[in-house]
Amino acid sequence: MNQVAILETVKSFFQREHGHFINGLSHPGKGALRQVVNPATAQQVAHVHDGCVEDVEAAMTAAQQAFTGSWAATSALARGNLLLKLADAMERHREELAQIETLCSGKTIVLSRGLEVDQAVAFLRYFAGWAGKICGETTDISIPAAQGEKLRGYTLREPLGVVVGIIPWNFSILISIWKMAAALVCGCTVVLKPSEYTPLTMLRVAQLATEVGFPAGAINVVNGDGRLLGPMLIEHPFCAKVTFTGSVPTGRGVGNSASALAKPVTLELGGKNAALFLDDMTVEEMVNGIIEAGYLNQGQVCASAERFYLPSGKLDEVLEKLSQRLAQFRVASPLDEACQIGPLANKAHLDKVLGMVNQAREEGDEIVYGGCSPDQPGYYFLPTVVKVRSENSMMMREETFGPVGSFLAYDDEEKALAMVNNSPFGLAASVWTHNLHKAMRYSERMQAGIVWINMHTLLDPALPFGGIKGSGNGREFGSAFINDYTRLKSVMMRY
Ligand code: NAD
Repeated sequence: MNQVAILETVKSFFQREHGHFINGLSHPGKGALRQVVNPATAQQVAHVHDGCVEDVEAAMTAAQQAFTGSWAATSALARGNLLLKLADAMERHREELAQIETLCSGKTIVLSRGLEVDQAVAFLRYFAGWAGKICGETTDISIPAAQGEKLRGYTLREPLGVVVGIIPWNFSILISIWKMAAALVCGCTVVLKPSEYTPLTMLRVAQLATEVGFPAGAINVVNGDGRLLGPMLIEHPFCAKVTFTGSVPTGRGVGNSASALAKPVTLELGGKNAALFLDDMTVEEMVNGIIEAGYLNQGQVCASAERFYLPSGKLDEVLEKLSQRLAQFRVASPLDEACQIGPLANKAHLDKVLGMVNQAREEGDEIVYGGCSPDQPGYYFLPTVVKVRSENSMMMREETFGPVGSFLAYDDEEKALAMVNNSPFGLAASVWTHNLHKAMRYSERMQAGIVWINMHTLLDPALPFGGIKGSGNGREFGSAFINDYTRLKSVMMRY
């Protein structure tokens, strides 16, 4: 076991009084104290004050003043440079940020370093590269001009204003950075609302941003109960756009509230992502693919696959080998560098996953492996393999967001493809085969915002990401984000 030692800086950070980060300063606030619990031990590690109407007002006002003042006066290239400096600072504080994340979310320290911090740094640098390149276009005007005058039109890409970013607990740094960096490079300012379960990482990132030179008010963080703060933030007159990542029910409410006020809204919601394995894959390839697609971060990844379609002749052998592999996974403290299965992120989530697996068992699905918590403190749940009765099993329709793969056999590839698409959601999907012809054709027919071929889950900043159907709207990354954080103004001139 290689249990990492908690840094002194992390210990002292946890002992501080926490609340919000507003107008360039840490700001504890006066709201009720909320416990931050380490999911690996079920013990409290810190406290944070919930936000109230005064905190929301202060954060929105600071963000609006920066938007029209200091941030507007910062040139596009200087904005990009600040994003690069923040990336460097996060790299210098990699271990500190990773430990804070692991102690709040239960993510393994290896993933906190490699996925939360390193990927956040990569995305910051990607978005910094857009600085100075976000612009409109000139256009010919075709209406006739009288008496030899000439007409010319052009468009301006204008930043929207204050962006409210609402963040889930599964990637508290990375998802915040996706939204924050996109907004800032476009010239917007941000007010972030982290999850109640993971309120601390972005407080530290916002401090680092101020240290490297971001002007006060450009980045603000308000913590607290989303049900109270969400409406206050969305309805605030300074809120020009909402970008939300989280569950489907909450997202629908956020979408309705923003749309009712004609505010643009990006929704990155959940789903029930499918992976289709074709018969030409070996059993070992299928087992490796399933582990990659379904069990990363205990399945608490929005793009993870939860529905698996396997050829009927191979299903039982794959499930047997998969169960053997999962049984060897090291269930341990997430601070242990060899840990492969850490806890789920919070007690409510553990109860939800356990309840769904119990319901599946009662309804007649077969729990081939796992299905319960190991005998140890904390919110652990064994990686679980469910052989479902049919396409209509609850396990093939509802997101667990946990380490639970549900498996169904097929005999006909066309019917399997129809089952993949028979879902109200469409965030992500994958097809696994050595047959290039089928890989290309099936990937084109899969109904999802992102489709992988012979891989799953990995995201790249250059490739747009977002859902279709009930999994949301809008796109992050690539050049597509520009549409979501700017508006076009048209100018026509006569000369
Ligand atoms: P959640 O919907 O419970 O909470 C998300 C955020 O919304 C939190 O900050 C919460 O405080 C806030 N919130 C709660 N009620 C609100 C309200 N009425 N108005 C405004 N904000 C409110 O989601 P979660 O449990 O934190 O995250 C897990 C879910 O997120 C899963 O369904 C997962 O699929 C989804 N997710 C999607 C993506 C994606 O990119 N599509 C990425 C990560 C997670």
